[in-house]
Amino acid sequence: MTTNSDKKRLYIGGEWLEGNDHYDLRSPYSGKVIAQVPLAEKETVLKAIECAEQGAKEMKKLTALERSNILERAAEIFKERLEECALILAKENAKPLKAARGEILRTIETYKFAAEEAKRIHGETIPMDAAKNGKGRFAYTKREPLGVIAAITPFNFPFNLAAHKLGPAFAAGNSVIIKPASQTPLSALAAAGIFEEAGLPKGALNVVTGKGSVVGNVLVTDPRIKMVTFTGSVEVGLGIKERAGLKKVTLELGSNSAVIIDSAADLDAVAQRCVEGSFAYSGQVCISVQRIYVQEDLYESFLQKFTEKTKQLKFGDPESEDTDLSALISINEAKRVEGWIESARNAGTEIAYGGQRTGAILHPTIIKNAGSTQEVSCQEAFAPIVSVNSYKTWDEAIDLVNDSLYGLQAGVYTTSMPKAFDAVERLEVGGVIVNDIPSFRVDHMPYGGVKNSGTGREGIKYSVEEMTELKLAVFTL
Ligand code: NAD
Repeated sequence: MTTNSDKKRLYIGGEWLEGNDHYDLRSPYSGKVIAQVPLAEKETVLKAIECAEQGAKEMKKLTALERSNILERAAEIFKERLEECALILAKENAKPLKAARGEILRTIETYKFAAEEAKRIHGETIPMDAAKNGKGRFAYTKREPLGVIAAITPFNFPFNLAAHKLGPAFAAGNSVIIKPASQTPLSALAAAGIFEEAGLPKGALNVVTGKGSVVGNVLVTDPRIKMVTFTGSVEVGLGIKERAGLKKVTLELGSNSAVIIDSAADLDAVAQRCVEGSFAYSGQVCISVQRIYVQEDLYESFLQKFTEKTKQLKFGDPESEDTDLSALISINEAKRVEGWIESARNAGTEIAYGGQRTGAILHPTIIKNAGSTQEVSCQEAFAPIVSVNSYKTWDEAIDLVNDSLYGLQAGVYTTSMPKAFDAVERLEVGGVIVNDIPSFRVDHMPYGGVKNSGTGREGIKYSVEEMTELKLAVFTL
């Protein structure tokens, strides 16, 4: 049963508007309806684009300091509402409270970085006299906002991945229409309430909920949208790129991240980090550890430590304080990966731990020495499953990591400096994390992938570059 107060509205042009049609939003853990959410149709999206064009004009009038202050204030309000926001996550995407609080803390930090970045969007002077015909000229560049940006976000980090789009977009003076994942609209609506309170001009942020195929499609194809910043699956990302025409498009897509364990001063600590990287938020993290390659002399010892630590994880209600793993975003996702486990078993592969499913909860699962054609080795799981594999030589380990359609981040544990630098040179990924797991991320570092993991970089400063146009001025002296 939902009450009238659970009926959500759209946020367009600084107004909270009723939708014509709604869908029931259910908690992935309890299956209960937690809200009714507007299903926006094409006309609503077109109205949002009109309002966002006005919003972009208002944003252009603000000084860098004013934009920075709004972002700073939003970060402060997030801090005051930490518990409330964490609870939204526990309800809408079954993120265990401990992890949900962590996401809100990162969201605050992301907006703070954006507030700082708003104050340092520089251009440069160009040494025009370096060319024969440039003599007697003076030139400089400046960065200008693009205008209206469409942000399309996934379900797994709905507050922080939205912050990675809203923060830099506002820092640079753009307006945004955000289309949150249909499973996680409440976080985007809560963020809109916070920015409204923080004093963002009307129309600078618009939240349009509904179906990706309807809302997303209008945003991607409308020429008034100057950029689409997308985080989500390869399949949807490719479709966006095909339909976006000449708009700027950045795509933050999936992965099946790997870590090499060549040598380690403290194998116990490495095993602990690998447990966190493999099973945090049930593996529904784009840089979740999915493939572990261990030098054969360390293999049995590592596997034993890793399995023992995995056994300590508690699964259950996301709103319970000691839960580590809860429901996947849908029971179908849990069944999909249960099918992978079944086919691994049928192929004679040993399941070292886990493999069971309780409703939408897939128990943390460790597969031993999966073959290179098994799903866990070559597809993205987005579930709590990891393969632990042994290798003989360093070159073999590098080849195994690179044998992937994806390339977001990779981790390398080694006590050898030459090997660490060699890994940086040879691994085909956007980021190499030495002596830690590939899941390491802080929010100002450049972040993005190669191959099917996408194109473009996030991390506030890098997003600001993507979200601005470089303008050149040449003066004839
Ligand atoms: P998804 O691709 O199913 O959905 C992402 C967003 O796209 C949603 O808002 C959805 O409504 C929208 N969408 C769906 N169809 C659309 C269409 N035709 N046009 C426009 N928009 C459309 O992804 P998901 O299941 O929400 O998230 C999981 C995926 O996201 C995984 O592949 C994961 O690796 C990836 N991800 C990547 C990063 C990263 O930074 N690289 C971070 C988090 C998640």
